[in-house]
This record gives sequence, C-alpha cells and structure tokens, in this order.
Amino acid sequence: MSSIYCMFCGGSGCKYENYQNWVNDIKHPNAITGLFSNWIGGNILATQRPSTRLIKKYDLINEFKKNNILSIINLEEFGEHPNCGDGIESSSGFAYKPEDFMNEEIFYYNFGWEDLKTPTFQNMLNIVQVLTFSLENNKKTAVHCHAGLGRTGLVIACYFIYNLSYGAEEAIQTVRNYHFQFKQRNNKHLYINLKNILNH
Ligand SMILES: [Zn+2]
Repeated sequence: MSSIYCMFCGGSGCKYENYQNWVNDIKHPNAITGLFSNWIGGNILATQRPSTRLIKKYDLINEFKKNNILSIINLEEFGEHPNCGDGIESSSGFAYKPEDFMNEEIFYYNFGWEDLKTPTFQNMLNIVQVLTFSLENNKKTAVHCHAGLGRTGLVIACYFIYNLSYGAEEAIQTVRNYHFQFKQRNNKHLYINLKNILNH
C-alpha cells in the first residue's frame, strides 16, 4: 500500500521532496532552505520529511537550532513512501535517523498514522497536547508527514481548535493562509478529516 502512494507523487522525483519546485510563490517562501516548508503562525514549521542527504547538504540541524526549532513531530508510519525522494533509512524506517536530531538535543516524537486516513480523536488529542507542550517558552516545533500537507495541516488545524477555540472552518482557513498548497490539494480532505475527528 505504502509504495503505491509513491507512484502518485513521482517516486525518486517526488515533487514534495524538492523544495526548488516551490520557490516561485513569493507570498509563501520556503521557511528553511532545503525543505519544502512554511511557518504556520510563526512558531510551527509545516515541512516535508527531512532526509539524511538533505540534513547534510543544507546543515538542517544547525538551521533548526538557529531558528529555535527544538522539537520534531513525525506523523509518518514506519517504512512509508519508500520510493519517494531520497527513500528511507533501513535502520529507522524513515528518511532520516531521528537520533541525528536527538543527539543534538532536539526532541523527537513519532505519532504516525496512515497517509490519507483519519486518526482517532484520542490520538489527535495526544498529538496536539504534545505539540502544545513543545511550543512552551517560545520554542518552535517542526511538524512533518511525507509532504507536510495533509496530516501536518490536520494536526495544526486541531492545534488551533484546542488552544484558541477556533471552529473547524476558521482553523483550516488559518492554516491555508500560511501555506498555499493546502488550498490546492487538501481543502476538501482536510475538512472531512477534521469533521470526522471532531464528531467522534
Ligand atoms: Zn512522495
């Protein structure tokens, strides 16, 4: 199942794993050079999955520290999208080794669920509570799934609902205002998933 998804996003040429495909939108520039990424609300980085190659090439660990990004929340499942972009590390099941961040005192949390599916209300509440905690004291957090759109957008929308009592529409609109791709690909899906979670 997992490798079927790769076919849709272009395999090793996966459009979501090449930030240079997304540099022409002047209103929504990539937040971190080397990653297809956007700041949402100033303290949450919505990003594609990092890879070991990108971490080295763009010095991402130092970039994260410079930007005060001190936690990573990974929404991918072990072994997913194995044929996309740089592929996955056999030792971790992800495109990078989480310990490369943890060894540099960047916290790492993995709350994976299957691409294009909806997590339970309880799981989402766990994720949002960890995200809320990770942002305390003006710290920043990177949230990623594969592309940094569907699952990532859903978590951030739920963060706004949980912390700011936004309604579903308002939460999605807020996420979209910061990240143009949410408009084009995920609007209906994001809304349906959010409704599913909220109507548990
Ligand atoms: Zn892909």
